[in-house]
Amino acid sequence: MSAKPPLIDEVRACRICQDNLPFPPRPILQFSPSARLLIAGQAPGKKAHQSGVPFDDASGDRLRGWLGLSRAQFYDEQTVALLPMGFCFPGTGTSGDLPPRPECAPAWRSALLDALTHLEFTIVIGRYAQAYHFGTRRQSLTEQVQAWREHWPEKVLLPHPSPRNQLWLKRNPWFERDLVPVLQARVADVIGP
Ligand code: SF4
Repeated sequence: MSAKPPLIDEVRACRICQDNLPFPPRPILQFSPSARLLIAGQAPGKKAHQSGVPFDDASGDRLRGWLGLSRAQFYDEQTVALLPMGFCFPGTGTSGDLPPRPECAPAWRSALLDALTHLEFTIVIGRYAQAYHFGTRRQSLTEQVQAWREHWPEKVLLPHPSPRNQLWLKRNPWFERDLVPVLQARVADVIGP
């Protein structure tokens, strides 16, 4: 395995917003400059904070299903980078987890993205990652997902794979019918056999 670059060590030691976190900082990310696929999500939940493993839940199972990736492929840092908009669990509010800490992306994101020199395809999940990776031209997440061909094959926005998002999937059957098969083919092409 190649040596970790200093950048990842800096991120892991980050304490920038510790006063606003519910627990001591624990950045949860998967990163290697060799990664070809980037999954840009929101922020780790409490379970990921405790285990240190992102997407190790029903959301992760659904996401891996959409992408056609096994767990081994998904957690191979040499090919897949997992960079949420906030690296530490931000805490819980009245209607679920709080948004990613706003200090995180300005501090780390562009340096990490610049280091992904083999990046071929970016999967963007949720509206905070949407705003960063697509800008704010489109208001609605659904509208941006529907317009997936605009940025194909460079990047795509997905709805959140949480089981709580079942209603969105029901209302938008075209997503799993039309987009998911094309997405799986693109991911297979990037990941290789
Ligand atoms: S959320 Fe980001 S900025 Fe805040 S302590 Fe964690 S790594 Fe640092």
